[in-house]
Amino acid sequence: MAPTGISIMPTATAPARSPDGSHFDVIVIGAGIGGLVTATQLAAKGLKPLVLERYLIPGGSAGYFDRDGYRFDVGASMIFGFGHQGTTNLLTRALAAVGQSIDTIPDPVQVHYHLPNDLSVRVHRDYEQFLAELTARFPQERAGIRKFYDACWAFLTA
Ligand SMILES: Cc1cc2nc3c(=O)[nH]c(=O)nc-3n(C[C@H](O)[C@H](O)[C@H](O)COP(=O)(O)OP(=O)(O)OC[C@H]3O[C@@H](n4cnc5c(N)ncnc54)[C@H](O)[C@@H]3O)c2cc1C
Repeated sequence: MAPTGISIMPTATAPARSPDGSHFDVIVIGAGIGGLVTATQLAAKGLKPLVLERYLIPGGSAGYFDRDGYRFDVGASMIFGFGHQGTTNLLTRALAAVGQSIDTIPDPVQVHYHLPNDLSVRVHRDYEQFLAELTARFPQERAGIRKFYDACWAFLTA
């Protein structure tokens, strides 16, 4: 039984009943972030979900695998959603709904693009620093860059 009140089991060995002997209310296929968030939110509302996963561990595309003593991300390596404001902090809110939280260390440079002709652009976490970097690379686009990203920023922080 997972700490949040959901049951995660390998598909092949899944029982028809929950550990307390009653039937499951919902069966969620797949223990990726989508399945886990769905199941935990249902459990928080009093339902008994069963999550079936065909792989060895939960996580899906946000999981990991080990090779030769090293641990690699399956896919997701730049995780959004752990903020404390705005509209995109979905993981913070999903965790809060089940009484959980997670400590994160924000990366000051969230993405670093290495483009042809030695063009390097860093997406700084600090909004003004990001705009300054972009404007320094494309000074002729200064007004457009500001207008475009201000509109995006207003949406994201609404
Ligand atoms: C290469 C790559 C890079 C990415 N980078 C980022 C990133 O940097 N930042 C970011 O935020 N997002 C990133 N993403 C996206 C993010 O990883 C996914 O959006 C998210 O993890 C998807 O979650 P999910 O639960 O919808 O699906 P999945 O993670 O695909 O989970 C589906 C789960 O269902 C299981 N499953 C499927 N069929 C069955 C079945 N019949 N029976 C039992 N189990 C089954 C699978 O084994 C899997 O565990 C990336 C994705 C990829 C592929």
